[in-house]
Amino acid sequence: MSKQTQLSEAVKGRFAPSPSGRMHLGNIYTALLSWLSAKSKGGTWLLRIEDLDPQRSKKEFAELIEDDLHWLGLIPDEGGLSGTVSAGPYSQSLRGEIYNSYYRQLLASGLCYGCRCRRADIMATQAPHQSDGRIVYAGTCRPQETPPFATEIPDGLATRLYAKSEDIFFNDGICGPQCVNPAEFCGDFIIRRADGAWAYQLAVVVDDALMGVTEVVRGDDLLLSTAQQIYLQHLLGFPTPEYYHLPLVRNSAGIRLSKRDSAMSMEYLREHHTPEEVIGMAAARAGLVADGRALSAGDLLAEMENKSASKLVLNV
Ligand code: GLU
Repeated sequence: MSKQTQLSEAVKGRFAPSPSGRMHLGNIYTALLSWLSAKSKGGTWLLRIEDLDPQRSKKEFAELIEDDLHWLGLIPDEGGLSGTVSAGPYSQSLRGEIYNSYYRQLLASGLCYGCRCRRADIMATQAPHQSDGRIVYAGTCRPQETPPFATEIPDGLATRLYAKSEDIFFNDGICGPQCVNPAEFCGDFIIRRADGAWAYQLAVVVDDALMGVTEVVRGDDLLLSTAQQIYLQHLLGFPTPEYYHLPLVRNSAGIRLSKRDSAMSMEYLREHHTPEEVIGMAAARAGLVADGRALSAGDLLAEMENKSASKLVLNV
């Protein structure tokens, strides 16, 4: 068996957008590098729609994200409309029963308690980007200093998971060695909202494990969420994928791109550029090609064979 074939059985990357708006160049950059990293090692790439929050997620955006990815030539092997569906469904809003069984496992371990604090509860379905600010939970609702806690949560309360004070080490493929103590970094964190919505941290860990994801390539504003995710992986007996956290794409003022940067939005880009130009722009941000070069995702891939995500962003 050739090396390429062996690798193709092992590597699986993913792109996991939240459908709260149309993509912009920053999302395209993340999608492109996660795709390139997996495909350049002969692996597969899946698309998962992170629509946990019923208030912020819109089906039309999920459809546009997929359409935009196809336009760019970034076609998921798994998930979405055209990929295989062996570990589906690939929309988090359809995976409640799955999350519930792992949630029950955590409750049964006596590590959870009910929480009445509101704002953090509402935020829990969203990936906590660093620019959102960070609060270390003070343990206000924790019934006693240490577990075990009761194994049932009263109706109408959010569920918090006890964060044990321990150093979690991981070696990020781009940012290097990391050591985070979840008890000091975030404190006990929410795994289910008071209204029953599943928290991002629980859902992402369950999904990455059950979907067989071996490498996570995403923005570096999620770097420190990784410790919470590894903590959950240990509790649930899941393997830890490799992590690659990419420097975020910034606008000319040095600020992380957002939906307000309309010239970088997919809507504008599709109106004014070809797919090859947009792939070229995202690739140039990663230092993979010279500024102004236009090329298809497939041609870029052919140039990048066998480079991991850390190599891919070496020039950033
Ligand atoms: N759904 C998250 C976001 O769009 C990304 C989560 C992840 O890649 O782990 O911000």
